[in-house]
Amino acid sequence: MPLAAAASPTLDAIGQAPRSVHRLKFHVDPVLAADIGAAEAGRRLVQYVADVNSVFTRETVRSFVFDPATDLQLVAPSKAPACSLNDLVDGEIVVCLSASQRGYSHGGLAMSWTYPVKGVIWNLNWRAIHDPQRLSREVTAAAPESTEKDYLGRQLKTLLHELEHVHGAGSGEYYHASHVTDTTGVAPKADLALSNPRDRYWWPRQHWRQDPLLGSVFEERLDPQANRSATLAMTRFTEGTKAMINTDWRQWPRWAGSTYMAATAQTRVAVTDRATGQALPGAAVSVWRDPGAQKPLELLASGTADAQGRFVFDWGCGFSCFAVGKTNLLVKAGATGRENGATWFTIFDAFEQKAVQGRAHFTIDLALGGGETAPPTVSLAETGPAVVGQPLVLVPVASDASGAAGVKVMVAGNDLPVCTFVAAPYACHWTPARPGVQTIQVLAINAAGRSAIVTANVFVQPAGERVAAR
Ligand SMILES: [Zn+2]
Repeated sequence: MPLAAAASPTLDAIGQAPRSVHRLKFHVDPVLAADIGAAEAGRRLVQYVADVNSVFTRETVRSFVFDPATDLQLVAPSKAPACSLNDLVDGEIVVCLSASQRGYSHGGLAMSWTYPVKGVIWNLNWRAIHDPQRLSREVTAAAPESTEKDYLGRQLKTLLHELEHVHGAGSGEYYHASHVTDTTGVAPKADLALSNPRDRYWWPRQHWRQDPLLGSVFEERLDPQANRSATLAMTRFTEGTKAMINTDWRQWPRWAGSTYMAATAQTRVAVTDRATGQALPGAAVSVWRDPGAQKPLELLASGTADAQGRFVFDWGCGFSCFAVGKTNLLVKAGATGRENGATWFTIFDAFEQKAVQGRAHFTIDLALGGGETAPPTVSLAETGPAVVGQPLVLVPVASDASGAAGVKVMVAGNDLPVCTFVAAPYACHWTPARPGVQTIQVLAINAAGRSAIVTANVFVQPAGERVAAR
């Protein structure tokens, strides 16, 4: 921030909030401290807060303080004060922990007053207060889930997720876009499926999975000694999340009409020719909304693109577009001589367009092409020797008559792709985490949605004496 002195941020500028530190107050069911005592419970929670801070201070201008001497109350649920905004001063967040009856930690809700921030996180049902520095991968009949998974995959992920909400991010929930079935009956069928590696919506948004608001990367995967720090290191907030959290939202409740959010009433579909990029006037456009709860999609608007290839429609929900069940749109279009096309759009795309890219209008781009039926071709160039812990460059080669639209490199057993590209060059850095034969898959997809996959086995040597000591 070399120009900070010249450009002192105003309080309500997007992404420009000054640093702030928030006091966390834990209200904990005494059952959770019965085995370890209050002092140890406090010591462990200090480590939880340190782990939360390692992510928040890297990703945002927010951080947290917690002093067990003053901020830890062990109080039975029947006697606990209501978990509410009452009695909080500006900047404070109360976190209420109950004991889980299910053998694993679950639940989590947040409520906040976003400017100045006061927050409440409750309905956290925890199996135990773990020692984050002594996690185990062991499972037993009595504890079928390891302390490592319970801490990283449930407690820490949820704490981060709810603290992101407290600061205004993720309203509408990213995970509501993870799986939606296309029930329109109109070609092409376009289910939204995060778990499908060929999904066109999720292809360029794989990094969203590193955000605990979506949060699909918190599973065990690495050496237990390194997994906690590796998980903290790979956690990333989306650009939209950061813009939300790094803003003091004085206008938050009036977003839909504020200077910080384009009006959803003027959302545009821009239909173009895939080969030339030129507008397609007269294209037939239809827009459906996902009402949530696995209900069929509802037709929201349909019509014809204007002379600029644009079709303008009203999202029809104003500020409540940020609520559950209104955040996902499916757009389809057709034009003479071209294959019908489809694309999804979510409120998180809208927010990135406005808060991150500064666009005046939400625009949903849909490019239509001919009926190219040939898939791309893909191969993987020979790699050098693979050694645990040493970065290896993988070089996929993909080509397509209409231009390869994307290449993805996946390693069997890894939840996240190692690399996801939307354009060449495709050089991918992969650091093997375990020895032995590992299977690498390279998936290529073209603009028409046709795909091809190639598989290669790589023998990974253990890190050892053959690696130069240093
Ligand atoms: Zn949530």
